[in-house]
Amino acid sequence: MFNKTTLKDYVLEGKKVLLRVDYNVPLNANLKITNDRRIRESIPTLKYLIEQKAKIIICTHLGRPEGKVVPDFSLEPVAERLRQLIKKPVILTKDVGDIDTIKFVRNMKEGDIVMMQNLRFDPGEEANDPDFVRKLSALADIYCDDAFGTMHRQHASTYGVAQVMPNCVGLLVEKELKTFDKVLNDPDKPFVVLVGGSKVKDKIELLDNLLDKADTIMIGGAMAYTFLRAQGYTLGKSLVEKDKVPMAKLILEKAEKLGTRILLPVDHVAAGEFSFAAQPTIVSTDHFPRSLMGLDIGPKTLAIYKRFLQRARTVFWNGPMGVFEFQKFAKGTNEVAKTMAKSPYFTMVGGGDSIAAVEGLELQDKIKFISTGGGASLKLLEGKSLPGVEVIQDKFD
Ligand code: AMP
Repeated sequence: MFNKTTLKDYVLEGKKVLLRVDYNVPLNANLKITNDRRIRESIPTLKYLIEQKAKIIICTHLGRPEGKVVPDFSLEPVAERLRQLIKKPVILTKDVGDIDTIKFVRNMKEGDIVMMQNLRFDPGEEANDPDFVRKLSALADIYCDDAFGTMHRQHASTYGVAQVMPNCVGLLVEKELKTFDKVLNDPDKPFVVLVGGSKVKDKIELLDNLLDKADTIMIGGAMAYTFLRAQGYTLGKSLVEKDKVPMAKLILEKAEKLGTRILLPVDHVAAGEFSFAAQPTIVSTDHFPRSLMGLDIGPKTLAIYKRFLQRARTVFWNGPMGVFEFQKFAKGTNEVAKTMAKSPYFTMVGGGDSIAAVEGLELQDKIKFISTGGGASLKLLEGKSLPGVEVIQDKFD
């Protein structure tokens, strides 16, 4: 059960709060933000801190500058977007230990917002260097972690600072952790898990952990071929990870023992080559031509998967049903996104490709929960704990 200290456990008036956010947003070649979801998701926490009259010191990383100052990874476009969203000045400082920054922070007024320049410009951030931790923690009275997407990392700003100062989680992290807690420990039933994508290796631990929690697990994408191979089918030129077939067999056996239903595609949209221009042909699992490869789930499979999605009270989806980047093979992925968007029940999407598919159809507001953390959410679904969560003090310590 979620029992971490939150912002609401502190009297914040006049206090300097070091707020770790995850503003690692995608930028295009002109350094324009192409998706500002992570910035928008931090607004409730910022508004709460302003209302409570705290002094706000925001810190985040952006990209992988690897401990060096790389101007293309400057947070200026991020600070500018935040100014527009929060409708307040946001001062972007030079770097954490800079003397002007220290003076500036000392003179902050209640409700002021300062943003530290990209933390990963300093090698101390990723190394969790004690000196860098000291510089960061010296800036504030309270540390607040609202960067769910980086909680699986033990960096200075996600772990080190929490060890040396009063700490808590922010509103976004609280919402993420409570949601995962509910889905993993007390999901409304039936609980349906839909998994796709290309690599079995990336999803095996997640499947293993969800086997005794889900009622039905439906598999699509290239991964389905490794599972179908484990059932003895031949699948033409489809992507089968031969070395993962034994693992797939184990999962299928375990599911049977637990009474968890695993559904695999009964038909496919196949083609002779991996190309956007390839001619699609519908084939069934038990008569798969040697010359073809499966690139999407077929219409019968889609109809079955949709029926389970419509009836589920909890759905978790991770990974595309086919090569959704090619329009002719995107139907399976797009249709499951649309079906989930229509559900009145709890629907949740994780993983970059599935989120991109949902956003491509502009359905993001119709999905009940889209996690802000790729790697971090995967770790939780695998049943693992996150160092950034562990280090935050429990409510009743
Ligand atoms: P992953 O990174 O494992 O989530 O896989 C995502 C990728 O899987 C996407 O780029 C899809 O194009 C790809 N994919 C999905 N289905 C298939 C398939 N049947 N054959 C080949 N690639 C696929």
